[in-house]
Amino acid sequence: MADASPENRASIAGDEAQPAESSATPLQALRLYLDLCRGHRLRLVVAVGHLLVGILGHLVFVVGAGWLVDSTLSTLGLDVSMGGTRERPGIDTVGGFLFLTMVVTLYCTYVDMSRFIELGERAAGRLRSRLFGHLIELPVRFFESTRIGDLSSRLLADIALLQETWINDLRTYVKNVFMLVGAVILLFVLSPSLGGLVLLTVPPIVAVSLWSGARIRRESASVQDRLSVTSVIIEEVLTAIRSVKTFANEAHEARRFQGAIDEFLRPAVRVARHRAGYVCLILLVLFSCIILLMWFGSRQIAAGHLTVGDFTAFMSALVLAATAGGLLAELLGRFQRMGGATRRVIELLDETEEALDAGSVQPGPEERLSGSMTFRDVGFHYPSRPEVAVLEGFDLEVKPGERIALVGPSGAGKSTVTSLLFRLHDPEAGELRFDDRPATDFPLRWLRGQMAMVPQEVILFGGTLAENIAYGRPGASREEIEEAARQANAWEFIERLPEGLDTRVGDRGVQISGGQRQRIAIARAILKDPAILVLDEATSSLDSENERLVQEALDGLTRSRTTLVIAHRLRTVREADRIAVLRDGRVVEEGTHGVLYEAGGYYRALCDAEGAGISDQSVVKSP
Ligand code: ADP
Repeated sequence: MADASPENRASIAGDEAQPAESSATPLQALRLYLDLCRGHRLRLVVAVGHLLVGILGHLVFVVGAGWLVDSTLSTLGLDVSMGGTRERPGIDTVGGFLFLTMVVTLYCTYVDMSRFIELGERAAGRLRSRLFGHLIELPVRFFESTRIGDLSSRLLADIALLQETWINDLRTYVKNVFMLVGAVILLFVLSPSLGGLVLLTVPPIVAVSLWSGARIRRESASVQDRLSVTSVIIEEVLTAIRSVKTFANEAHEARRFQGAIDEFLRPAVRVARHRAGYVCLILLVLFSCIILLMWFGSRQIAAGHLTVGDFTAFMSALVLAATAGGLLAELLGRFQRMGGATRRVIELLDETEEALDAGSVQPGPEERLSGSMTFRDVGFHYPSRPEVAVLEGFDLEVKPGERIALVGPSGAGKSTVTSLLFRLHDPEAGELRFDDRPATDFPLRWLRGQMAMVPQEVILFGGTLAENIAYGRPGASREEIEEAARQANAWEFIERLPEGLDTRVGDRGVQISGGQRQRIAIARAILKDPAILVLDEATSSLDSENERLVQEALDGLTRSRTTLVIAHRLRTVREADRIAVLRDGRVVEEGTHGVLYEAGGYYRALCDAEGAGISDQSVVKSP
């Protein structure tokens, strides 16, 4: 059934009712832009310089056009010299001058526009790289509390908006601010008294425009609200179309809908009339002012205080000023939208990154961990679910070179232990130590470099197999990659591919099987040659041949290094040096398979359940 509750209606009808997002100030936006243009300041100066000369060109053109009028009138025998104060060159000279002005102005426009566009593109490109570099250095915690899809689509939209603004609007804005100032100065130079009169006419025009604009917007919004009621009815009725039909209520619904349309139509017609009225009111004030100016100008000309050419120039400069003012007002709205995008970008840039290289010890690149690790009374819950303690009093000590298996029902916290190990999260209570030092003493980048993970779900990046294997150690040579592939039992399938190591995989490349992926991940880990290896077991999805190949490769990899195996199936961990049984976030049993099985405790119950084909989920409820 359709949910026709008042809340639902409100949510459909009243999106505008939500509080507006706060925006960055224009100053913050400008600072961001200038910051991104760092290194290209000279280009910016050149752009603004040419812009200013271009604007000057426009103003000179206007004055020149006035001269042409005066020159024409004086050729016709009219005295426009105003007692010798206004000597004009001949028509041809002024014509040539106008042409020259146009060429210079266009050249300047070309330079400033291309520079501004280039700067905008560069700033947006730099912003993209900076944001990406920043994002990938944010802690995992950030990504767990953010919807990634939302984040990336919103971010792309925000950057596109900023790019658009920087390429087009910023130049238009700067240009029109200067144009407005320049044109107003020119008005006063041409005729101080007419210029003064213009200033007097501005307040009534602006006041009437603002007042009318606000009223039009308010009335239109209220009409739109009524229209949204009709969409609620459409949604309701279509969702509940079965009920409508079984009650044979089609005519009733059609009447209800017509009623809503009528409700909308009456005020809509009224608003249309008002709207036309307001527009005419604005035009009335505007044209009154123009007529006032023309009347006053004509009187000035008749009294010999102004030449016809200067008056022509004056009116043209007025058009320039009015156009610039109008564009600036329009741009303000767009800058407001940009303010929201800028704020979101700035907020994201302000998120604290992981300190990848900080640490009280700074091991050299060749130094290695011995591979001992200790969890001591560790407590942890995920920031997004503070009410669930995932680990509580978790103790585990692993000696260098030991192969330890972590078992337990799903949800017991096994993967969480590996997250803590890689310091994707840090314990809230207790401590994690490597080589008998707190984990926090080591720089994160180095520490993570000491460990490798063969995950359950292997993700291959778009690129070649060689690139994917080299992900374990970027910069590895072709021979090293090949050797790693051999050791990982991956070589024989890679060799059979037509392009071998250069085969493209991922979304647009060839699809390779789960077992093959696993072996690529193992090759990655072999290349990385870690002190500590974490295996998230995934043999369950493999056929027996693949399982044997993967197992063989793993055996080679785990030899002589500390290995933590997250085991989802118990029969694969019998060979482990030690098994730690995890239950409700703590280790409840520890020992070899034989000892634990004989003891007949929780581990035995898990084994028996697996043997009987019972899922580990049910074991949690009834061990
Ligand atoms: P296991 O690997 O043993 O199946 P996990 O470590 O994945 O267990 O999960 C332990 C508990 O933590 C589960 O209750 C799981 O729902 C919860 N959990 C895992 N990851 C997150 C996360 N990113 N945010 C919130 N809760 C999580």
